[in-house]
Amino acid sequence: MSIEERKDQIGAAPDTSEPRRFCRKCLTREMEQTEYFRTLHEYIAHLDADLKVDSEVYEERLALCKECEKLYQGMCRICGCYVELRAVMKKNGCPLVKPMWTRVQEENVAY
Ligand code: SF4
Repeated sequence: MSIEERKDQIGAAPDTSEPRRFCRKCLTREMEQTEYFRTLHEYIAHLDADLKVDSEVYEERLALCKECEKLYQGMCRICGCYVELRAVMKKNGCPLVKPMWTRVQEENVAY
């Protein structure tokens, strides 16, 4: 393949005719959305339990996110995080000036 042909391919739309396999070096925009979210949920499930809030706190945080006008397609428009990942970590807090998670916020949270 010539360099010119490769340059043409760099700008080409991805071929979606065949299923993609997981690639550690892919950008999220290059991944099938269902695969990306499955990977995200697997990552959350496999985090060290010591780093995570308990399931009751997690569900309460997510319920508050679902009521929040800043939630957009699973992502917080203030911090840019997927809230399911942000909410599971003890060290994280809601980034609002008046945090929504105050009832379920751990001490020493990072914003
Ligand atoms: S983290 Fe806070 S600001 Fe972001 S969506 Fe959840 S409740 Fe809203």
